Amino acid sequence: MTLLGAHVSVAGGLDKAFSRGRDIGCDALQIFVKNPSQWQAPTLSESTLTAFHTAHEQNPMPVIAHSSYLINLCSSKPETLERSRRALAAELVVCGQLGVLGLVLHPGAHLGRGEAAGLEEISRSLDLVLSEVPNIPTKILLENTAGQGTVLGYTFSQLARIIELVDEPDRLGICFDSCHAFASGYPLHTKDGYQKVFDEIDREVGISKLEACHLNDSKAELGTRKDRHENIGKGQIGTPFFARLIHDERFSDTPMILETPLGDDENGHAADLTTLRGLEPA
Ligand SMILES: [Zn+2]
Ligand SMILES: [Zn+2]
Repeated sequence: MTLLGAHVSVAGGLDKAFSRGRDIGCDALQIFVKNPSQWQAPTLSESTLTAFHTAHEQNPMPVIAHSSYLINLCSSKPETLERSRRALAAELVVCGQLGVLGLVLHPGAHLGRGEAAGLEEISRSLDLVLSEVPNIPTKILLENTAGQGTVLGYTFSQLARIIELVDEPDRLGICFDSCHAFASGYPLHTKDGYQKVFDEIDREVGISKLEACHLNDSKAELGTRKDRHENIGKGQIGTPFFARLIHDERFSDTPMILETPLGDDENGHAADLTTLRGLEPA
């Protein structure tokens, strides 16, 4: 069985993520290292760092982070582009200090300049960010998207193109989000669809580059390009997909992170972990 976990809150301090994760039975965590809806750069005091490392030692498990939603590495507005590059570099520095394995990134939205130009701009941005932050263990994990609006990264060939263009491809990986893949048109609800999507990932980027998964069912139907997460088994993807994924030996070391609705009782992730752990191989 794979490493199952969830995106957890860091309210009250980054180190609090571990007790929250442990309480609901996580084997892996995803956190924000700063408020994801603000530009303000993250700052870590020495005591925050120490508290995080101590809590991590007490709860050894892989930790990844999700970057700010404001970042657009191919914005056509020079000011936003520059801000985005600075913001990503600042997050990457902090992730390195925390020992976070991967920083998940939505590749960007081309805002009308075209897909090919957008992918090239994203690669250029990544080159600048990576050269500014050398020698850290944290990889940037490009997340596949639902393809809403002019958002890029809704096919694995687009993610492959970005990786192919950068100077340091070894510092990039991918994060597979099941809800986004389904919304962008991959029929994950069928056995054939399961095989095909991971064959495609292997062909385009190499399966070893898949370094994290987001386990989300989808409220929206296949190919609707709408990003609406749903609890496991309650959406359009259904449990057979998740059963196949968590029992797939290729991903036995891959952090599998829930980003499903918490619900009024805040129990959504705990319930989804129980659902996942109860799934027999499909
Ligand atoms: Zn995601
Ligand atoms: Zn999403």
